[in-house]
Amino acid sequence: MITHAAVCRIGHVVSDDIAASPAPMRCRLCGARVWTVCPSCEAPLPGLQFTMIQGSEGTLVRRMLQTQVQATEGCLACHEPYPWSFPNQRHA
Ligand SMILES: [Zn+2]
Ligand SMILES: [Zn+2]
Repeated sequence: MITHAAVCRIGHVVSDDIAASPAPMRCRLCGARVWTVCPSCEAPLPGLQFTMIQGSEGTLVRRMLQTQVQATEGCLACHEPYPWSFPNQRHA
């Protein structure tokens, strides 16, 4: 299972779970525009990958596996590189 993330143009992860903590329009750190979907195809950005495990009292707890959005160089749906993946590279 996976959450949906919000990332600014520079690559700051503004929220790694927009369902739990909604993202602002602008990055608090640098003021750049915040994206919650792929700029090319509008697929949701992958946030935290997690699994549900049995807790000590029989409750299900969320165990985080990894943050996906910074590990991913491009969109899984349309394969376009994200703007923050290669900030110093522009394809001609
Ligand atoms: Zn930022
Ligand atoms: Zn895409």
